[in-house]
This record gives sequence, structure tokens and C-alpha cells, in this order.
Amino acid sequence: MLFERIIRLVVIAFIAGAALGLAGGLVLGGPEGSVATGAEMAPTPTTAVDVAPQPMTPERAQAIGANELGMIMVLEYHKIGSPATEWTRTPEEFRADLDLLRSEGYYPINLRDLATGSIEVPAGKSPVVITFDDSSPGQYRILDDGTLDPESGVGIMEAAVRAGGWASRATFFALLDVRPDDHVLFGQEDHRARKVRSLIEWGYEVGSHTVTHLNLKEASVAESTKQLAVSKATIEQMAGGAYSVDTLSVPFGEYPADDSLLASGEWEGTSYRYLAAVEVTGGATPSPFSTAFSPLHIPRIIVTGDALRAAIQRFKDHPELRYVSDGDSAAVSFPAGPADELGSLLPDLGRPVLTY
Ligand SMILES: [Zn+2]
Repeated sequence: MLFERIIRLVVIAFIAGAALGLAGGLVLGGPEGSVATGAEMAPTPTTAVDVAPQPMTPERAQAIGANELGMIMVLEYHKIGSPATEWTRTPEEFRADLDLLRSEGYYPINLRDLATGSIEVPAGKSPVVITFDDSSPGQYRILDDGTLDPESGVGIMEAAVRAGGWASRATFFALLDVRPDDHVLFGQEDHRARKVRSLIEWGYEVGSHTVTHLNLKEASVAESTKQLAVSKATIEQMAGGAYSVDTLSVPFGEYPADDSLLASGEWEGTSYRYLAAVEVTGGATPSPFSTAFSPLHIPRIIVTGDALRAAIQRFKDHPELRYVSDGDSAAVSFPAGPADELGSLLPDLGRPVLTY
């Protein structure tokens, strides 16, 4: 069953977290990186400051105001460019979105990390997942001189990383065979493989949006299985290493009759499995530690107009609904008697649970 698999992954994440993540403890962020001039340079890694790990306690969780049963915003972007439309965010708007998120105490994670509960966010901050659908050129553009376009989505995010208090995390759901082909892996045919590799190297996630933006509700099981297998295998091959494509954006939000088609399958000897799939709409998602979480039906917030500001305001009006990290990715901390909307704690998480 999928939940069992998620829980198994959570246990693995717990072990890995014990080895790697705990040293981060309560440390907020990392040192600010120097400004890269060659924009294709890898961003400065976020280095954990060397402090002795402290076990999470209910008292510390309370002092932080941790609520890891709270809800998380998964934001949905399409084009970055001009002019602004329902499906196009201008560079200025996207930059302002990041500024707003940072100033309101949010910190980015990848969708895979949400799905597996590997949420590495400084204490007191709230995770947010930024997703991009359809791999259009404005999301990631390389200029003629070989540098990263500072007005493209990746360029704007990397500038936020250099400014501090932000990380190279977002999930790109790429298309592989569509017309016009400027939606195939961000256009710029000569740069496609390089873009996939650099995104992954910097810490971003590349997920599947099927090969051709297939309507999985209308397509045959055979064609759906083929595209779910081929899209994953193709991106992994381009990544050129041990990379695993684990997440899917369901085109048009049109689901197949049976979700098990998304979870795993095989086409001509190529097997696949997806840990998580995102919907087109639906608001904030329940916590991955909650019974209300549905990994193959993760809702999103389309960022258009004032939708982001409104979603942030909703958490201000109902702070009990907002996920706030305890800063310890191995432990799950939340106040006793969580709000009904949050569901209840999943059993057998395989990690310390603290209530206060
Ligand atoms: Zn799409």
C-alpha cells in the first residue's frame, strides 16, 4: 500500500536525518552566499552551522510554536513573462511573491520532500512548495552569453538564494514532446540536458507532466502507462546519474479512473512509481503526517492576481492551521488538540512525536 511505502520512506528519511540533518537543529538558514557573476555557477550550498544537536522537547516545541500537523501551501506557476495573464506571472510579480513569502516566514522545499515528510526548514518557519508546470522558456532561460537569464524563474529564485534566507528548492513538471516545442524542457533545444542537470545539481526537483501533456482521464491505460514510464525514464537518463523522478503533475487535473495507475506500473520492461501527484486547484495541503494527507491528490494554489496574498492572509486569520517547523526534521511536534481541519496524526510514523 502507498501509505506503507511512504512510511517506510519516512523511516529512511528519519535515519538519514539523524545522520545529516540534526546538526542543523535550531540554526536558522545558512551563511549568505557571495553573489555569483557567472549565473550558471552552482549556488553556494547552505552549510549547517556546527552546533551540538539537542533533542526536541515539548518545551522547545512550544517556545518555537511548532505545528507540524498544520497545512502547507503548494504554489502553482505556469509562465514567467509579460504581460501578466491568468497563466503568466511577470518577473516583477514573481520576485515580489518570493519577497512576500520570505518576509512572512516561509521557506521552500521540494514536493518530494513534502511527500516523504523530509521537511528541512529552520525552526519557526513554514515550508512552501513552489511548482512550475509545462516547462515554458521563461521558467529557465539561458542568455546568448551562456549566463542564466536573471528575469527567468530560476534566475529570480537564485537571486533570492543569494540574498539569504532562501534555498534552491522548487519542483518543475516538464513536458518532453509537445507543439510548439518551446514547451519541451524550457525550449532552447541545445540546452535541455544541461538545464535538467543543473536544476538537480542546485537542489531543485524535476518531475513528470507526462510526455505530451496527456489527458489521463481520456487516454487508454496502455498509452497512460507508456507516458508515465517514458517521461520518468527520459528525465532520469538526461539527469545522467542516480536521480529519481518521484513526482507527477496530472495534466489538466484530469485523473485516471484508478489512482493505482499513477502509483506504479510497467511499460515494455520499464517500470515506474510516483510517490506524489499534484492537482490543479484546492488550496493548502494537509501535513504529510496527517490522516488527511493524500499523496496522489495534493491540492495546489494557482498563483494569479492576489491569490498568494489571500492564502497567506488565511493563515494569519487562522494561525492554528499553519504548518510551523520545529527545526528538527526527525521529530514531529504540534500542539495538543489540533484543529479538526488538520486531521489526526498518522500512526506508526517511525519518528519521535512531541505534543505540548
Ligand atoms: Zn500543464
